[in-house]
Amino acid sequence: MNYYDFQVVFQEVPGEISLCFSICGCPLRCEGCHSPFLWKEQSGSVLTAKTFVSILQQYKNLASCVLFMGGEWQEEQLINLLTIAKSEHYKTCLYTGLEQVSESVLNELDWIKTGKWNPLLGGLSSEISNQKFIEIKTNTIKNNLFIKN
Ligand code: SF4
Repeated sequence: MNYYDFQVVFQEVPGEISLCFSICGCPLRCEGCHSPFLWKEQSGSVLTAKTFVSILQQYKNLASCVLFMGGEWQEEQLINLLTIAKSEHYKTCLYTGLEQVSESVLNELDWIKTGKWNPLLGGLSSEISNQKFIEIKTNTIKNNLFIKN
C-alpha cells in the first residue's frame, strides 16, 4: 500500500487531533475529485508497518486518532494498519468514497465517512451532502458536528 502524504489534521474527526494518511490507488474517479493525484496506485511511497509504527510513536501523546483517506481497496493491509493503530492506543477513522465497507474493516474503526464527493451536494459541512460521518459504536450519523449554526 502506498501513501501520498501524511499530515496532522484537526477538523476531519471532530474533537480529535488526527494523523491523516492519504492512500494511493483510489479507483472511484469522482467527478470534480479534489485529489486526483491519489488515483495512481504507484504514487507516493510504500507505507510499511515499520514506517507507520515509527510515525505513530513519534506523535504519541500529541495526536489521538489515525485517519485513512482511502485504502479500503487493499483491505487486508488496511486492517493490519488499523489494528496496529489501535494497539498503539489511537482511535481510528476511515474516509471512503464508498457507501459501505466490510464488517472486518468496520470492526477496526471508531468512525467512518462514507459517500462519493459530489460538488453539487457538498461535503460534510453541507446540509444536503450525500456523505455521512458515522460513529460506529452507536451506528449514528454525526454530520451535525460539521455543520455550523
Ligand atoms: S473518493 Fe476521494 S480521492 Fe477518490 S476519486 Fe473520489 S474524491 Fe477523489
